[in-house]
Amino acid sequence: MSEPFKIKSDPELWEKLGMDVSRFSGMPPMLTTAYTNIFLSQKNRPSEMAYFDNMIENIHTGRIHEIMAVKETGKPVIGTFCVYVPEELIVAAGGICVGLCGGAQGSIADAEKILPRNICPMVKSAFGFKIGKICPYFQAVDLVYGETTCDAKKKTWELLDRYVPTHVMEIPQMKRERDKKLWVEEVKDFKAAVDKISGTETEFDDIAGAIKTINAKRAALQRLNNLRHFNPSPISGRDMLLIEQIAFYDEPVRFTEKVHALCNELDKRIKDGVAVAPASTPRILVSGTPMALPNWKLHNIIESSGAIVVNEESCIGTRYYKDLIDEGSTSVDQQLERLTERYMKIDCSCFTPNDERIDQVIKEYEESGAQGIIDYCLQFCHTYNIEAVKLREACEQRGIPFMAIESDYSPDDVGQLQTRVEAFIEQIQG
Ligand code: SF4
Ligand code: SF4
Repeated sequence: MSEPFKIKSDPELWEKLGMDVSRFSGMPPMLTTAYTNIFLSQKNRPSEMAYFDNMIENIHTGRIHEIMAVKETGKPVIGTFCVYVPEELIVAAGGICVGLCGGAQGSIADAEKILPRNICPMVKSAFGFKIGKICPYFQAVDLVYGETTCDAKKKTWELLDRYVPTHVMEIPQMKRERDKKLWVEEVKDFKAAVDKISGTETEFDDIAGAIKTINAKRAALQRLNNLRHFNPSPISGRDMLLIEQIAFYDEPVRFTEKVHALCNELDKRIKDGVAVAPASTPRILVSGTPMALPNWKLHNIIESSGAIVVNEESCIGTRYYKDLIDEGSTSVDQQLERLTERYMKIDCSCFTPNDERIDQVIKEYEESGAQGIIDYCLQFCHTYNIEAVKLREACEQRGIPFMAIESDYSPDDVGQLQTRVEAFIEQIQG
């Protein structure tokens, strides 16, 4: 018989990382309970999900050991908060890119000792993890690389720099030719900052290899997303979201292999007619702000209300993997330019105008066979909140059922959200 699921602890490792060990020790049991209730209670999960369950069991231990082993060889370990920071250049230097966005309520109170309360919970959660010394990833990184996407983040980086070296990448707010020129320069600065840690300059072959590696990771996620669009769905939205979250901290080559192994199983499930829910289950596309680990709140509400999530139009979702980098460059300058071009396709609401995102959401709605859109906005995220106006209009014009939700990480609004989601599902069912 296999051991029951349990998120592992390693106080000795955490002590070495300078964490608040006594406080953090409560985290693995809490997360074990949440994970068991939300994920392991699902019926008929694909067996290849075992790898991803194992990644969660080792989230505070095994993966941290792997990261520390790379760091000890002098390779860069860099924390990021946004899909605009190009992980290819970290991988090219033999390093590790870790997504540090916070998705937990437990660190918000720490952050609110310093930051204003009325800002985005993702920013507060991440900042609180660092100042409370309750995230092994934050403790392991050499530096963090922030960006100027939204006001909450760019001003928080000034304060975060007091606790961990924080570099900031200027991301323009528009996508004109002159913005591209600035962007390429920012990418070059990022490469220089990464190379400085390892003490060697990454060259053409290193970058070409890294572009291939990360393209392969994104392509595997595209394959998985296409398969999950099948009706009846061979995998739940919760499991898909989990994999999209793990993509931000797992070793990319291994992760890609495991995603393909899961895809092979889903291929077979589709042929054999094996699904996680009947074909009549209402299908929802979730769009909007990212859901960082362990933010599973909305997916859990939707799927425990009798619907299934069939697509995440989100940075922890398709915005992360829908575009690949052209691999045909012949010089480092060209590689960096093509890399920038790929990153400029990401349609975050921080940009103006950003009508391509509205078109993209509609395209994903059609491709996924969804029957309604729930637009998810983290509280105080003004750009996504305002962009929801245009998205609602586009849905109304096409007769697509649409609902906008604004929420944070606290459990306080779960009952109210559940009621709204259930009413929306009834609307879809007619
Ligand atoms: S929503 Fe925008 S700012 Fe946030 S991670 Fe995505 S691209 Fe970056
Ligand atoms: S969700 Fe919005 S407010 Fe929060 S970090 Fe992302 S862009 Fe900024």
